[in-house]
Amino acid sequence: MLCVKRKNLIFLGAPGSGKGTQANFLSDKFGYEHISTGDLLRAEIVSGSVLGSRVKRVMDSGDLVTDELVIELLRGNLDLESCYYIFDGFPRNLKQVQTLDKEILDGRDYLVIYFKVDTEKLVNRIVNRRVSEDGKHIYNLLTNPPKVEGLCDVTGSNLVHRKDDTEEVVRNRMSVFIKEIEPMLEFYSTKGNLLEINADLGIEEVSKLVSGQL
Ligand code: AMP
Repeated sequence: MLCVKRKNLIFLGAPGSGKGTQANFLSDKFGYEHISTGDLLRAEIVSGSVLGSRVKRVMDSGDLVTDELVIELLRGNLDLESCYYIFDGFPRNLKQVQTLDKEILDGRDYLVIYFKVDTEKLVNRIVNRRVSEDGKHIYNLLTNPPKVEGLCDVTGSNLVHRKDDTEEVVRNRMSVFIKEIEPMLEFYSTKGNLLEINADLGIEEVSKLVSGQL
């Protein structure tokens, strides 16, 4: 699909804030390429590489993998000359923010959307999250269940409960997020390209709010 929009988008938000769901929807609707560093890392694990087994331990604990590794993986999967991207799950700290701004996007225009959610509600949301085997279709057993239990509506594949979507790991992921997010928001707010969305609303309302800004 051709990219019809003229700006790259960066989606920020706590785990479970709906970034991935919105990125899937908007990439289909507007022709963005959706790039998720979490998906790239999970693909590395599935490939059975040495790198994959190293990152698996870190991901299973809910901590961040090293900046160098994620940045290298991201660079290897981008084609900024031909496409406009939705960055989902990257950047995750100020170092990644600066690298993306100066070295990767390197003067290209971009808009940052922060999916703001009451973090108390999130643990429940994530523990009930299920994803298709390719990670592209996201469900919630309470708010957005599949039509047939355990199966993806689109691909028919089994739905997976991610190992890092258990309560203990989610709590660690949330505290990592809370520790890193403020300086990131400050960077973008100073730059003047930050938009905050109330992501406590339903999936369709959030989509409308985001679409209206593009
Ligand atoms: P996600 O699918 O975005 O929730 O990411 C799942 C896990 O992958 C995170 O908890 C981290 O361990 C790792 N990860 C994903 N993106 C990054 C990133 N930009 N920097 C460091 N670690 C990441």
